[in-house]
Amino acid sequence: MSLIVHKYGGTSMGSVERIQNVAKRVAKWMRAGHQVVVVPSAMSGETNRLLGLAKELSANPNPRELDQIASTGEQVSSGLLAIALQDQGVDAVSYTGWQVTVHTDSAFTKARIMGIDDAKIMKDLNAGRAVVITGFQGVDPEGNITTLGRGGSDTSAVAVAAALKADECLIYTDVDGVYTTDPRVCEDARRLEKITFEEMLELASLGSKVLQIRSVEFAGKYKVKTRVLSSLTDPLIPLEQEMKSGTLITFEEDSTMEAAVISGIAFARDEAKITVIDAYQILGPIADANIDVDMIIQNQSVDAKTDFTFTVPRAEYQKALDLLKKSVQSHIGAKDILGDAKVSKVSVVGVGMRSHVGVASKMFRTLSEEGINILMISTSEIKISVVIDEKYMELAVRALHKAFELDQK
Ligand code: ADP
Ligand code: ASP
Ligand code: MG
Repeated sequence: MSLIVHKYGGTSMGSVERIQNVAKRVAKWMRAGHQVVVVPSAMSGETNRLLGLAKELSANPNPRELDQIASTGEQVSSGLLAIALQDQGVDAVSYTGWQVTVHTDSAFTKARIMGIDDAKIMKDLNAGRAVVITGFQGVDPEGNITTLGRGGSDTSAVAVAAALKADECLIYTDVDGVYTTDPRVCEDARRLEKITFEEMLELASLGSKVLQIRSVEFAGKYKVKTRVLSSLTDPLIPLEQEMKSGTLITFEEDSTMEAAVISGIAFARDEAKITVIDAYQILGPIADANIDVDMIIQNQSVDAKTDFTFTVPRAEYQKALDLLKKSVQSHIGAKDILGDAKVSKVSVVGVGMRSHVGVASKMFRTLSEEGINILMISTSEIKISVVIDEKYMELAVRALHKAFELDQK
């Protein structure tokens, strides 16, 4: 008998039929003698719908109230799943984050999990119940409901698995694993049997939304065995087959790993770039406003003044620009501020880069051959990112995918 955590995303929970299929799959695992905790997301589109209602009422809605609203999507899907499980003859109970309790800090809309009480869950599991726990939410020390950031149900599931010392965390989604790049952008993308934790962390942080980055961090910190697999297969396929499907995140490179230099390509479509010409210091006011600054380049000129260029998520572009313009008038004294809200970031990721040279030159040559101008570059030990004009993003992903032969095993 193993203790397994299942996570089902929005598409996987997207209709009554899909919820019935989830219940059938969970019932199959229970019949095989396993203890199962299920963490569902809201039905697809529901979180956007709820947040959209708030946006209709206010251009700047209060984050506490946003969490109060957004968390309800998962409450509904959890209750529905418990009913579907009971209808399959499985004894099941659903809990919200505050009933479990999932403790978080008070950073509304992007809270961090601080701890999860396991007593109630273990009691139910030991009584033979399937336990359904809402994804995406928790409760802060003052008793306020919080949410974990978009895509946060992945993190709920891995954190629950860590707290329960589960044998495995299975992330069921609408693709059958982690691919060399988003299969919706590149039709030659190929599923990886395994991916190292480090590479998954980079891919997630550079824009691949198949897993929320914090879920990968949790998996690494607590060594949670995590697998990404499809929820859209026949729910009654043999367990042995299902257990080997999808993509396993591994903590060590082993001989069965593909010996590729590059394992995957990630992209972040909605970026923006700001350049401040001839200034002393600029990032203070941006940091104070809690805006995520990503890539930064700074060039020093002869008179000891500096040009800064940095990127921010496009959603924060206007706010960042307004703030800078305000502080320029007061104390920075920059000559000019230039902005470009239509850029994207494309990154190649692979632990093989450590032992291979020439990855950067191949990347730059490939983009140049496609006539794509590189606006910014940033590198780390296992990744190279470039900022380019948004209109070339998909072309860049496909060209790099081919150049690094990711379509071939
Ligand atoms: P869920 O609702 O199950 O959480 P998401 O939409 O959050 O699902 O994540 C799954 C999606 O991630 C896929 O449908 C796919 O378009 C996208 N994706 C991006 N990069 C990758 C990748 N490298 N491999 C697989 N899927 C990816
Ligand atoms: N329902 C939440 C969202 O749409 C959490 C999740 O799906 O993981 O972001
Ligand atoms: Mg997701």
